Amino acid sequence: DNYLSRRVQAIKPSPTLAVTARAARLKAAGRDIVSLGAGEPDFDTPDYIKEAAIQAIRDGFTKYTAVDGTPGLKQAIIDKFARDNGFHFAPEQILVSVGGKQSIFNLCQALLNPGDEVIVPAPYWVSYTDIAILAEARPVILETGMDSGFKITPEQLAAAITPQTRLLFINSPSNPTGAAYTAAELAALGEVLRRHPRVLIATDDMYEKILFTEAPFVNIANACPDLLPRTVVLNGVSKAYAMTGWRIGYCAGPRELIQAMTNVQSQSTSNPCSIAQKAAEAALSGDQSVLAPMLQAFRERHDYVVARLQDMPGVACRPSQGTFYAFPSFHEAMARLQLADDITLAERLLEEAEVALVPGSAFGADGYLRISYATSMDNLRKALDRIEAFLTR
Ligand code: PLP
Repeated sequence: DNYLSRRVQAIKPSPTLAVTARAARLKAAGRDIVSLGAGEPDFDTPDYIKEAAIQAIRDGFTKYTAVDGTPGLKQAIIDKFARDNGFHFAPEQILVSVGGKQSIFNLCQALLNPGDEVIVPAPYWVSYTDIAILAEARPVILETGMDSGFKITPEQLAAAITPQTRLLFINSPSNPTGAAYTAAELAALGEVLRRHPRVLIATDDMYEKILFTEAPFVNIANACPDLLPRTVVLNGVSKAYAMTGWRIGYCAGPRELIQAMTNVQSQSTSNPCSIAQKAAEAALSGDQSVLAPMLQAFRERHDYVVARLQDMPGVACRPSQGTFYAFPSFHEAMARLQLADDITLAERLLEEAEVALVPGSAFGADGYLRISYATSMDNLRKALDRIEAFLTR
């Protein structure tokens, strides 16, 4: 019998990291694998950000900082929220953490009790459910598919809310689907939430800067300003500034909750890396023109990937509104090739086509694959040629 906690036995290792690790092992063994599994930009961190970190080391900025982040970084975050999102937060409403993932972990630990329900629209970023489970809460999954544009409806949300519901996750643009809610769609969800004051809203805006729509970025607190007092806005520098390894995420929310989340963090990691905080401060307050070329590259690759997928037999793919992911359906192709599920499909593609992809079921949606186009056009061309050959042979 198992001596590990029930809590830890209820979770699984992050499947996206597992695919990346497996592809790396096969590559190390000499196989010519093209990996479209990565959840991170392929660009280097911009120089002005690196310079700030080097300067921090030279200046001896190498000690503990305040648990919730340096005053300088917190001010840069407050300014960012004011500039980009029209939100005006006080320093006590901001918490800087070791990546966006820790922000979510802190939130669940500070908010949830055993038996509380957390509403997670599917397909979902893999960690929401497991982080909720680690807090002994119960994820309630709302299914969506390609037909609904991978978005939940107000009716679906209303039907899912119970007296136990404590938290709703919204991730727009979404990892893995690339779908983004419009202001009108968010307003309609807000209409439902207004009737349930006990439900807190977590808007995960991690992909805010990777948006292809003409309409500017909006989250639910923009669409429904009256809901801001019970919204936690989650964001970070990982995806926007190609800084996944630096591990800086941040969030803003109600004072009491942010204080409790800070207490959780003070008993786990303490402050995020002092040097990385200096880098993040530079990222947020420096010249934002570094973002445009990355966005442009993601957009061009997106257009190529989606057009290629739409041409493949038995594959259907909606254009993404943002992120660096496409989430094509392989339902027809799987039926034709008599593949039991998308895990089998992903394994066959890895073994026979030498392309690494994350199966949709990792995100709660069987029959899809997540394709990351955070890689070069050459890699994308090669990978898509191989997938096409696999499907048509
Ligand atoms: N939220 C979403 C939707 C993500 O896709 C990710 C990373 O994959 C995160 C949060 C966490 O980002 P970080 O690397 O800063 O922990």
